[in-house]
Amino acid sequence: MKKINKVLNYKLLVFIIFTLSLSTSYSQSIRVPKANLLNKLKVGNHNFVKNDLAKFDFLEQREVLSKGQHPETIIVTCSDSRVAPEYIYNTGLGELFVIRVAGNVVDDVALGSIEYAVEHLKAKQIVVMGHSACGAVTASLKGETESPYINSIIKIIKPAATEAKEKCHSDSEALMYAIKQNVINQIKIMHKSKIISEALESGEISIWGAIYNIASGQVEFIESNEQPDKQKGDSHD
Ligand SMILES: [Zn+2]
Repeated sequence: MKKINKVLNYKLLVFIIFTLSLSTSYSQSIRVPKANLLNKLKVGNHNFVKNDLAKFDFLEQREVLSKGQHPETIIVTCSDSRVAPEYIYNTGLGELFVIRVAGNVVDDVALGSIEYAVEHLKAKQIVVMGHSACGAVTASLKGETESPYINSIIKIIKPAATEAKEKCHSDSEALMYAIKQNVINQIKIMHKSKIISEALESGEISIWGAIYNIASGQVEFIESNEQPDKQKGDSHD
């Protein structure tokens, strides 16, 4: 029991430390335990929704980060100009390793970037974040275009679009369904990476799906590929 209390106290202390760090100034020296990383994003998003943002000293951050980067979270999201992860999660420099491509698709190049951040930068969680009113998903619902390059994006989203058209009765319903299913599908694609699969299996990383609402600013987390039995031992890292 004493040991459990000690762990709980430690978790509480860490939570207080990173909450204070969000409300005052950024400190590169604080590494948040993996179990609290998702909560850190939720707190940042809450600040963004309320427009009550933490301030950052970019002069200090650039100096600290010139010695190296240790981002803890990988964000895979859309190139849409309204979807800016550092604002949405109210983070400073060096916190998010961001991969942005239309439709938040995980192609081989994106997968290589994710692998790099997991293996070499020791990032601890991956968030695949789709968003409302996504143009790439809308295009995929309409079908292929004359551009082979745009089609390369559409093809990756197509399974979600096909499923949405089969199951939904209206265009707006199909769009929301496809946006969500596309996030789930991109998470599945990540499993073809040996590096990511092994990191997930060993509990070194967590993977989350999310949908960003461009009108409200709110992020809804919808999917987790975290290994349930690995979550308990996270507090020591
Ligand atoms: Zn989009």
